[in-house]
Formats: sequence, C-alpha cells, structure tokens
Amino acid sequence: MRKRAILVVMLLLVAVFQVDFSDAKKSSGETCDSHVHLYDFTHATDGFEKLIAAMDSAGIDKAILFGMPILKMWSESDPIRPEYYMDTDAEAYYYSATDLFLARELERQPKRVRDRFFPFLCGINPLDKNAADQIERLIQAYPGFWRGIGEVMSRHDDLTAFTYGESPRANHPAFLAVYAVAQRHGLPVLIHHNIGSAWRRDPIYLAEMEDALQKFPDVTFIWAHVGISRRVDVPTLPDIAERLLGAYKNLMFDISWVVFDDYIAKSEESLARWAALFEKYPDRFLIGSDVVGHWGHYKETMGRYDRLLALLRPETREKLMGGNVLALMRRAKAAR
Ligand SMILES: [Zn+2]
Repeated sequence: MRKRAILVVMLLLVAVFQVDFSDAKKSSGETCDSHVHLYDFTHATDGFEKLIAAMDSAGIDKAILFGMPILKMWSESDPIRPEYYMDTDAEAYYYSATDLFLARELERQPKRVRDRFFPFLCGINPLDKNAADQIERLIQAYPGFWRGIGEVMSRHDDLTAFTYGESPRANHPAFLAVYAVAQRHGLPVLIHHNIGSAWRRDPIYLAEMEDALQKFPDVTFIWAHVGISRRVDVPTLPDIAERLLGAYKNLMFDISWVVFDDYIAKSEESLARWAALFEKYPDRFLIGSDVVGHWGHYKETMGRYDRLLALLRPETREKLMGGNVLALMRRAKAAR
C-alpha cells in the first residue's frame, strides 16, 4: 500500500514537473549523449551537419562519438541489400577502418563542431591478441585525439552469431590486453557484452564481465545497455545492477537502446524501481541515443528519457543528462 502511495506521488510529480532536455538545458549544465555511432552497419552516415542539427533540435550539447566496429555483408544470395545487422542472414565482419574514417571526418570539421564530440576508438577484432597494438598505433597516429575506447563488441546475440570466428567475451585475453592499454592511457572502456543468452533467463555471461571488472579496478568500464540486448530477458536485472554498483567502483552503466524500453520504462513500477537506483548511485549512469549513422529519429530517441528524468531529483537529473559524461571526460585526459 505504501509503495502504491509513493508511486502515486511520483506520478503526480511527473505531471507537475514535466521536464525535457530542452527545458533543463536552460537552467543547468551542458547536456550529453553518451552513445552515438557515426556510421551504420554498411558504414553509411548522414554526416556531421545533420547530426549537429539533430542534436540542436533535441537540446543536446555534446556527444561521445564512435564508428561501427562490425559491418554487415551484402551477400550474393540476399534478396535485399541489408542495412541493419538483422535484415538478412548474411555474415558480419570486424572493420578497423572505421576509426580512421571517423578521425579524418571529425578533424575536417570546424572547431565549433569538433568541440562538441568526445571521439572513442572501437575498430578492433576482440578475438585478436594484436588488438591492443592496433589501439596503440591509432593513439600514436592521432595523439591527443581519442578520449576513450568503445563501443567494443563482446557478446552480442545475433550479431555475434553472424560474425566469423569464436564468440568474443569480456575477459578474453585479447580484451584483457586492450584494458591494459586503457589503463596505461587513463581511457574509459565502453563495452557491449550481453549478460545472458537470447533464450535462458539467468545471466550466464555475467561472470565474464565481473572477471574483467575485478582484473582492472583502475579502468572505468561503461557497460552498454546494462548488458541487455534484443531478446535477452533477465528478470533479476535491477537487483544485479544494484549489487554490481556496490561491488565495483569502476563500473558505470549506459541505459541506451532496448534496455530503456524493455526494462526501465516497461511500467510505472519498473520506472520507479530504476529511478530509486539512479538516486542511490547518481554518478554511475549515462544516457545515450545509440543512433547508428542516421539521425531521423534522434529527437524522439532522446525524448524517451523525459519520463525518467521527471522522476529524479534535480541534481541526479543533471548528472544523467550530461554531468556524468563531462565528469568522466574530465578524468580521462586525451590519450597521447
Ligand atoms: Zn551502440
């Protein structure tokens, strides 16, 4: 009954203090998107000019920006040209050139555009123990440019299945060498690593992520989508998230993509449960769009968070809307 009363009060507060990114921007600090892919799964993009326009329309000042580390084949048997990785059964493959294209494109932009992005590098094959060297080479090629590593792709359900080779995992020796590079340069690591499979409801891949968190306590890990992906259904997720935040000071969560609609904003109850978690750990969550190369739905994608933001205390709201990204980027100096 008490829970119900709290819920009713929270809902009333939502109605009274309806906020959105553009409103909040007027009164508080800079707003940030923690998860933008400049390219889609065929490496096409709408480009910077339209991205800036989309960010302006949504009231977003800055964004963490990276390429796309895996591309989708257009195979000769495909009846259509696939754009999204799920479009056909064709294979996918690791694509390192993405970082070079992104760096070249961003460096060509005027300063007012460059200043709005924190570029991350992501184009590694996470099964190749040479991946760490590849990252070092990119840092040397663009000294003072990269602000983090990611979104690197560990376990990713269908995408993993489409990609040639063994399954990647967050504690694979090749990934461990990448984290050592991150530690040496003080860079955060944004990683997509499914917490479970697309069939079972227990988090069978959680231990791999915890192993990485334990082995590199000085590296800040941003676990994309709280470990959730399409069709991954782990009912105990909020409890797991709460335990992990207590256990690992080096862990942050990115709540972009399907975890927001399928878990956090699934019902008023789930929204209240997660909001309580954000209040308990206000410094540990990031909000992102996870748009891939095209910005047509950018404003509504970021607008989804308004329901959640309205439930939070003003200080917590400001941290989720950008403060946490800015604090993270202040801690992570550009790598040289
Ligand atoms: Zn992503």
